[in-house]
Amino acid sequence: MHQLKKSWTPCLPPPLVMPRHVLCRIMSTIGALPAETGGLLLGPIDSDDVTGFYFDTTADCTRTTYAPDHVALRKKLKEDWLPYGLDFKGFAHSHPRNFDHPSGGDIRYIRRLLEINPGMNAFFCPIVIPHEFRIRPFVVLRDEPDRPRETVLRIV
Ligand SMILES: [Zn+2]
Repeated sequence: MHQLKKSWTPCLPPPLVMPRHVLCRIMSTIGALPAETGGLLLGPIDSDDVTGFYFDTTADCTRTTYAPDHVALRKKLKEDWLPYGLDFKGFAHSHPRNFDHPSGGDIRYIRRLLEINPGMNAFFCPIVIPHEFRIRPFVVLRDEPDRPRETVLRIV
């Protein structure tokens, strides 16, 4: 006898959509440097699309961690991006090749950002592996903030 299982509909995470020039910008900055650098993914307010990347040159980077310069980024967001209809969609940052997924620290950080940004339902956090010029697209959804989901990268 088969036991009836509750039907389960897998919910696909949103794809990471970005133009080729944004991917080139990510790869020519953090992709060309030692691991643990990063920057902000930007896109139109009320959309999940990524249309820009800001390399966070004043971040606090060590060999094993990337901590965004949140003071500078918040100021830029308020003064340079939000007035022009751009909001942040997440962070792209790099990891060493043997660690190509978001860390526990990354997830805690993203969870805090989701808590203080109630309008944000998806936080993109692709991991770049500089030595291999590789990017692994991940997204953290508000409903499951402790479980980064691998998604697809769609170049438009
Ligand atoms: Zn990380």
